[in-house]
Amino acid sequence: MPGYELWGEEEKKHVNDVLETGILMRYGFDTPRKGIWKSIELEKAITETFGCKYAQLTSSGTAALTTALAALGIGAGDEVIMPSFTFVASFEAVLSVGAVPVLVDVDKTLTLNPKAVKNAITANTKCIMPVHMCGSMADLDALQAICKEHNLFLLEDACQSIGATYKGKHLGTIGNAGTFSFDFVKTITCAEGGAVVTNNQTVYTNCDGFTDHGHDHKGVDRGADLHPFIGYNFRISELHAAVGLAQIKRLSTFLHIQRNNHAALKNILQQVPEVSFREIPDPNGDSCTFLSWFLPTEEITKAFVAEMKAQGILAGNFYWYANNWHYIKQWQHLQEAKSLYNYNPQQKDALLKLPSQNFSDSDAILSCCISTAISLVWINEQIIEKGTKMVAAINKALGK
Ligand SMILES: *Cc1c(COP(=O)(O)O)cnc(C)c1O
Repeated sequence: MPGYELWGEEEKKHVNDVLETGILMRYGFDTPRKGIWKSIELEKAITETFGCKYAQLTSSGTAALTTALAALGIGAGDEVIMPSFTFVASFEAVLSVGAVPVLVDVDKTLTLNPKAVKNAITANTKCIMPVHMCGSMADLDALQAICKEHNLFLLEDACQSIGATYKGKHLGTIGNAGTFSFDFVKTITCAEGGAVVTNNQTVYTNCDGFTDHGHDHKGVDRGADLHPFIGYNFRISELHAAVGLAQIKRLSTFLHIQRNNHAALKNILQQVPEVSFREIPDPNGDSCTFLSWFLPTEEITKAFVAEMKAQGILAGNFYWYANNWHYIKQWQHLQEAKSLYNYNPQQKDALLKLPSQNFSDSDAILSCCISTAISLVWINEQIIEKGTKMVAAINKALGK
């Protein structure tokens, strides 16, 4: 899964370019930076790699989501439909712009169930936010059709699925805007960082200003820049962008390794007839950062987890159902609207209703799901050993 596993000379070289000049900021200082513009280079590399018109780097993936929502004009009282299975950043970003996160069920794609999305639409719905979890994609044709019918924005959270495609197009570039995270455990990393990608010039211009206190970036003198709207500081630093620049150039290598290792592990697990796999709307587009698979029941899945834990080999196998950061069931802070400051009444009402909402469809799927992270540094013998031990633990859990 993560690019940090293959930290190397290229990363050091790009960081050293920045250290040589000492200009760590992405804007200004034109003379002393001696032509070193890592953030601009990385933004260009993002548009070329993923095939989109514009990219705006940010300080994190969460900042990218917040920026994208703001750039689309989503704010107070607007409802954003998102999945019950995601990372907490999804609702954090929605709440931070004053909007209301509307959580709905996922299906066996581990992403938004289009039927559940349809049922959740109200007069206040402004945006559908699929989260392409664990390296693979939502059913974007179905979601796009719903957006078209109801005149809604499609904002793709592709933070976990860098390099994955849907029908030939990169995830993140298909909706009105998309986001990537380059945090330390993502497919490519900047240490901390993120990006908004879009093909819409106005959305991009909004992102450019919003991430830098509203600067219009039209002049050569920062102090004389105009501020057409209020922004924040979600800037990336040149040091972070330098790491990302080295990593994005290695992305196709990472994906190649990931796909091979994923196929090898899947080959072993599919020898167990009781194991089934995640549904993938476009199997060719899977980035293969994880292999996500199902056991027949919650009880058997929990027995597998317990057995792996007992043997001390659970690491890298994620049982999201019991995880505090990725599934609604464990988000008590959200369900109790535990904020440090006052939320607006629409937000508070919506959050306090969450405990009475029925997520049994998501429960049925997540309670039987394991995602196995695919490493870039496994050698073949390790995959065979890992797969064999997993199969033994599965068979024990199945009572075979
Ligand atoms: C990692 C992640 C984010 C947030 O990214 P950060 O860079 O860690 O802020 C958002 N959404 C999903 C699905 C993620 O996995």
